[in-house]
Amino acid sequence: MPGALRVVALDGPAGSGKSTVARAVADRLGFDYLDTGAMYRAVAFEAIRRGVDPHDAARIGEIARQMDLEVSDRVVVNGADATIEIRGPEVTRAVSAVASHPEVRSEMVLRQREWADGRTGVVMEGRDIATVVFPSAEVKVFLTASETARAERRSKEMLDRDYNEVAADMVRRDRADSTRAASPLAAAPDAVVIDTTDLTSDKVVGKVLEIAEAAWGALGEA
Ligand code: C5P
Repeated sequence: MPGALRVVALDGPAGSGKSTVARAVADRLGFDYLDTGAMYRAVAFEAIRRGVDPHDAARIGEIARQMDLEVSDRVVVNGADATIEIRGPEVTRAVSAVASHPEVRSEMVLRQREWADGRTGVVMEGRDIATVVFPSAEVKVFLTASETARAERRSKEMLDRDYNEVAADMVRRDRADSTRAASPLAAAPDAVVIDTTDLTSDKVVGKVLEIAEAAWGALGEA
């Protein structure tokens, strides 16, 4: 169908391997890639910069709605480059509270759909892509991994931080993300669940590409 949008929705908890896999899949398929976690992190960054309490739904919602946000290789928030800061411990600790507000979520979902509009193929990674943002996506994958494997991956990305601290932050964030009222982290009933604990990222990419091929036939590098 000409003009139809092809969506790979990739969801899962922290450290499940989403980002590495999503980037590689986008590359192989020639699709555009969006890290929606970076968008929620950007809202948390701006809230911290302005000294706003992450639990203040009304004020955080206003920040989200008014925010000038660019997410590509760099993340630019109201003109300030926040690429590095959004990965820091301060933002990581505040982000789940910020992302729990329906006011913030509806604005981000709107922006995510707008971003996809007019594109031909997208890989979007997050927590609610298959359940809320693109429930009609033809390729829905939910990545999981054991808590230990996820904590180890996270702490390898953050060499300057103590392993136990990284692991505790991760568990706290997953609990908050999975138990919040507004679009909690969960696998869509029709998502393919892949446990990545003992798999290399190349293997996981291969599995996602197989699912994409089953949906759309051979794509990419053609
Ligand atoms: O993917 P990442 O770990 O960078 O996401 C940061 C946080 O943003 C998550 O812990 C979650 O609170 C929030 N998030 C979300 N919905 C998404 C993506 C991220 O609530 N689609």
